[in-house]
Amino acid sequence: MTKIIYAKYPGKCKVCGNKTERNEEVSWAPGEGVKHLKCDFTLTPPSSDDAEFMKGVNDVRQYHEERDLLGREMAEMLAMQREYDEC
Ligand SMILES: [Zn+2]
Repeated sequence: MTKIIYAKYPGKCKVCGNKTERNEEVSWAPGEGVKHLKCDFTLTPPSSDDAEFMKGVNDVRQYHEERDLLGREMAEMLAMQREYDEC
């Protein structure tokens, strides 16, 4: 199951071979690694039926909003906090 995540670490795109940045939105699937969103043609447009996909999209959106409002450090802290809350 492909998910949209913001990368915690720099990585390498499976499709184009270029690097992915820390905190860049990338698609990720178990056993496949990360891909740039623009490189991952298996991504389907968000659908309200797909709760997990939408959650990934919303997480990224929320991160961007918070980063614009509060700055990058604060946004990262809040994103981490949300992740811990889920566990
Ligand atoms: Zn790529």
